[in-house]
Amino acid sequence: MNTKKSSECPLCGGAKKPGKTIFSVELGFGVVVVRHVPATVCAQCGADWIDDEVAAHLEQYVDEARRKHSQVEVFSYA
Ligand SMILES: [Zn+2]
Repeated sequence: MNTKKSSECPLCGGAKKPGKTIFSVELGFGVVVVRHVPATVCAQCGADWIDDEVAAHLEQYVDEARRKHSQVEVFSYA
């Protein structure tokens, strides 16, 4: 278990800052991409972490893409 401060990137030790990231998931029949997702981003290596509530919201985009069954679905996080 990593006991480092949560404000420190576990990968490189850089500073984690609020930022935006891009979320993508492979569904088998297609791909879902969500842009401008709020996330915590490492200023040094670019690793990102998405909050639980944001991740829950992303599920809705995934569900919508599943319903549409589109090969590529690109959303902007809102
Ligand atoms: Zn890092």
